[in-house]
Amino acid sequence: LNDELRRSEQLATVGQLATSITHEIRNPLTSLKGLTQLQKKKYPEDNEYYRIMSNELERINSILDDLIVIGRPSMDYAKNNLQELIEYVIAIMNHHNGMEHPVAIIKELEEDLPEIECNAQHLKQVFINIIKNGMEAMPTGGKLFVKVKRLDDNYVQITVRDEGDGISKENLELLGDPFHTTKSEGTGLGLMVSFKIIEEHHGEIKYDSDEGKGTTVTIILPVHQY
Ligand code: ADP
Ligand code: MG
Repeated sequence: LNDELRRSEQLATVGQLATSITHEIRNPLTSLKGLTQLQKKKYPEDNEYYRIMSNELERINSILDDLIVIGRPSMDYAKNNLQELIEYVIAIMNHHNGMEHPVAIIKELEEDLPEIECNAQHLKQVFINIIKNGMEAMPTGGKLFVKVKRLDDNYVQITVRDEGDGISKENLELLGDPFHTTKSEGTGLGLMVSFKIIEEHHGEIKYDSDEGKGTTVTIILPVHQY
C-alpha cells in the first residue's frame, strides 16, 4: 500500500509538470521539423544528416507523447475492436524494426475477440511501449510473442513474451518508477505511463522475468468500463 501511495504521489507531481512542459516544447519542435524538411530539399547532398535530425526530432516527439499522458487521464472511452488495435500496433512495430538484428513478432490472436471499451490511443501507446521494450531486450534479434485471448465474458488477457536479457529481482521492484531506466538512451517513462493507463482502464499488469532467459508481461483488461 505504501508503495502505491508513493507512486501515486509521484505521478501527481510529475503529471502537472509534464503537461505544462510538454506544451511548451511542442511548438518549437514543430518549427524545427518544418525547417528540417525545407533544408533537406535545399541541400539534398546532406540527406544523411537530415535523416538523423528527423529521427532525433521524432524521438523527442515520442517522449512528449509519453509525457502528455501522465497529466491527462484517459476517460475518453469508446468500443474498439481489440484485434484491429493489436494488429495495428504490431504493424507499426514491424515497420520500426530497422534494427541490425531484427526481431520477429509472432502473434497468436484468438478468434472472435470482443470489442473492448477503452481509450484506443492510450492503449496503443501501452502496447507500443511494451513491445518496444521486448525488442530492445533482444539486441541480437529473436522472437517476440504476442498472445491475446478472452478469459471470460468480462476480461481479456494480452501476453507479450520476449527471449531477451530479462530483469533482475531488484529492478523488477522499480518498474514504473519515473525515470527508472537501465538503458543508456532510455527515458524510464514508458512503463510509468503504461502502468497509469492500465490502472485507468481498471486493468492489471504483471511482470515475470528470468534473468538471461526473458520476460513475460501479462495484461488483463475488462471488456466494459462502468
Ligand atoms: P526505457 O525503455 O526508456 O528504459 P521503460 O519505462 O520502458 O523505460 O522501462 C524501464 C526499464 O524496465 C528498462 O530500462 C528495462 O531495464 C526494464 N524493462 C522493461 N521491459 C523489459 C523487458 N521486456 N526486458 C528487459 N528489461 C525490461
Ligand atoms: Mg521503454
